[in-house]
Amino acid sequence: MNVQLKTDPLSSWIDTGGKPLMIAGPCSAETEEQYLETARAIAKEGYAHILRAGVWKPRTRPGSFEGVGEPALPWLQKAKEETGLPISCEVATPEHVELALNYGVDALWVGARTTVNPFNVQDLADSLKGVDVPVFIKNPVNPDLALWVGAFERIAGAGITKLGAIHRGFSNAQEAKYRNSPMWQIAVQFKSIFPDIPMIGDPSHMAGKREYLAELTQRAMDLNYDGLIIESHRNPDEAWSDAAQQLTPVALGEMLKGIEFRNESYGADFQDELDRLRGRLDNLDRELLEVIAARMSVVEQLGEYKRDNNVAVLQLDRWNKVHDSRAKWGQELNLYSETVEELFKLIHMESIRKQTEVMNQQPA
Ligand code: PEP
Ligand code: MN
Repeated sequence: MNVQLKTDPLSSWIDTGGKPLMIAGPCSAETEEQYLETARAIAKEGYAHILRAGVWKPRTRPGSFEGVGEPALPWLQKAKEETGLPISCEVATPEHVELALNYGVDALWVGARTTVNPFNVQDLADSLKGVDVPVFIKNPVNPDLALWVGAFERIAGAGITKLGAIHRGFSNAQEAKYRNSPMWQIAVQFKSIFPDIPMIGDPSHMAGKREYLAELTQRAMDLNYDGLIIESHRNPDEAWSDAAQQLTPVALGEMLKGIEFRNESYGADFQDELDRLRGRLDNLDRELLEVIAARMSVVEQLGEYKRDNNVAVLQLDRWNKVHDSRAKWGQELNLYSETVEELFKLIHMESIRKQTEVMNQQPA
């Protein structure tokens, strides 16, 4: 995919003093008092560059708190006046865009449930024509890179140049550790398509639980993300939405103190060592592919043998044994067992494909 968009660097529209951009605030603005108290406490901590607030909440099922709507916008305005921090909120319809801009909201974001729908995104793009406002676009709830890319093309097509991507993870079909699986490789692929679009990590919506926030924040920083958006509420347990994943403004400050922020620039010695280690990885990857190719050639022989003896390609008991033994071998080598399992699922699928191909060939 080769896409060119006109974008302004983050540093041209917000001064973060060279640090990662930090957006903080509650999942939702609930009451004037709750919002202002939270905003003041965040400002006092001094880590945030932008305040966030959910004003219209896209909820999975009706009946949950759907946001205060327009009446919350004056609270955001007040928070901005008092703290001097710009304010941001999610927009999902042209009406939201119009209202948010009328009340002086400084930055907008497109939520994960909106990014999935090109009609909605196009409506938003149309409503943003001629407006000069920063727009962040969250990844779609499903792991579909093209949808995320397409949303940027639509919004950029409206003339928006202050763009940012928010990586909030992807929803799970089954019970999983995190509320939304990060699938970091999708964000890395996004970065390879749009190297100039800042990548903002949203550990709150990935984690779902505050105990996982620090590890996910660290991971985003290790991947050189340009910023973070983290939910913070004056009284997280009482929050009307996303209670389990929010931190008090003070606890968020504490959490951030424990994060290692990596250096952006490095000297010649560092570069030499980096090149040396990357060279080793290149060689190892070649060897890895050679081993996989050797494995495929055995798979092919096995396929011929099965075909000539009229045996089906897939034998479940064998597959279960393969699965268990590889996971165990991986563990003995200190490899992460879920990754080893995923890897062998792929290798097995490829073997089945190869053997099915062989099965359908005539014997030589
Ligand atoms: C949010 O930021 O509060 C939100 C609703 O997030 P997402 O669109 O990532 O689910
Ligand atoms: Mn939320």
